[in-house]
Amino acid sequence: MSTLKAVRGTRDLLPPETELWNRVEETARRVFARYNFGEIRTPIFEDTSLFARSVGEETDIVSKEMYTWEDRARAQSEKAQSLTLRPENTAGVVRAYIEHKLGDKGLLQKLFYIGPQFRRERPQKGRYRQFWQIGAEVIGPPSAGSESPLRDAEVLEMLASFLNELGIKDWKLTLNSVGSASDRPRYIAALREALKDKAPKMCVDCQRRAETNPLRVLDCKVPEDQPIIEALPKIAEYLDDDSKTHFAAVCAALDACGVPYEVNPRLVRGLDYYTRTTFEFSHGGLGAQNALLGGGRYDGLSEAIGGPKAPGIGFAIGEDRLILTLQAQAEAAPGGLADAYVAPLGEAMNAPALELARELRRTGLRIELGDGSFRLKKSFEVGNKLASRIVLFGEDEQKSGILTVKDFATGEQVKVARADLIHHLRG
Ligand code: AMP
Repeated sequence: MSTLKAVRGTRDLLPPETELWNRVEETARRVFARYNFGEIRTPIFEDTSLFARSVGEETDIVSKEMYTWEDRARAQSEKAQSLTLRPENTAGVVRAYIEHKLGDKGLLQKLFYIGPQFRRERPQKGRYRQFWQIGAEVIGPPSAGSESPLRDAEVLEMLASFLNELGIKDWKLTLNSVGSASDRPRYIAALREALKDKAPKMCVDCQRRAETNPLRVLDCKVPEDQPIIEALPKIAEYLDDDSKTHFAAVCAALDACGVPYEVNPRLVRGLDYYTRTTFEFSHGGLGAQNALLGGGRYDGLSEAIGGPKAPGIGFAIGEDRLILTLQAQAEAAPGGLADAYVAPLGEAMNAPALELARELRRTGLRIELGDGSFRLKKSFEVGNKLASRIVLFGEDEQKSGILTVKDFATGEQVKVARADLIHHLRG
């Protein structure tokens, strides 16, 4: 056997799992279309400086996780260029927004993407070096209403609808405001000051973060550090009136449409470009890597990479983690079973049974069809593996129009008139 294997942190996606990936992507396309988002596809690699200037030099992503290389010059007149496999997609979308002058029409741009991202992280369950994100951005000139808290609430409501439609159960939305471009530096200065005495008593990562990127200290999971972190200044105390009003309006709009959330003052997220609203949807079933998706507002990002003022809000869903969650749910639930197994009694009943199955399937019921050559015992065994009920369909049943239906879970066996069968199977 060849010793060549997929590179550490990357994987092959094979059938039947790929069906699930397609279902997730189709659901995203369908839901996002209802909110009038259009698809954008940006290159897999970009100029390295794009990420350094947007995501931030001091972030974990840029400082240690990027796949970067010097692209050799082909002609003497050309300079070598530093290129990077995209570690996230927001920077590329905003670059494209600037490059194609998408804001010139004075309207909001609502763009979504689906594609692989690359980070040199330590691989573990739910964390890969090539992983997939489904994301979206709402960006535009301030005159288009791009700063409005309604945009934040609408994006969050869309995500809640997407997860519900996909059948993800028990997700949790956590929300915070990291303040405006002026609140954040004041808070970071206060944090730096508070950490001066405290950092030496913290874990080595926090000691480093206290110097390079103090906000990241809030993400620390080391138990011994928690009491220190709880006592640090809170961002909420540093928000100016505009930021407070903005955040209150986001929360009020979510309350109005019934999207549940929790405010967590420690949610700051790892990318430098966030301003005001930041959020995360998590799922308990994922273990240590429990973030299903994350996002937030980035009012200064366009300007940071040389573009016009173009506030925006966006998110990136970890598609790999959505799939893990769906798979775990399918395993835990007795679901996956068809509504009924139609068992023809004798080969002569095969064709009439196909017709019955067709009638039931037309109403949306999930039906497995057996085979009249099976003995009754075998039909029960196979039916029990594939469906929650078995419908016996022999010549007598066909003549009398009364069928026998057995529920595998309860063991209950009843006679049902053919005309009532659909109603019975739905119950
Ligand atoms: P971020 O771009 O860091 O805000 O991440 C957004 C989402 O992408 C996270 O909530 C995860 O679900 C997912 N994600 C980030 N990094 C990885 C990774 N290395 N492997 C798998 N999923 C990831």
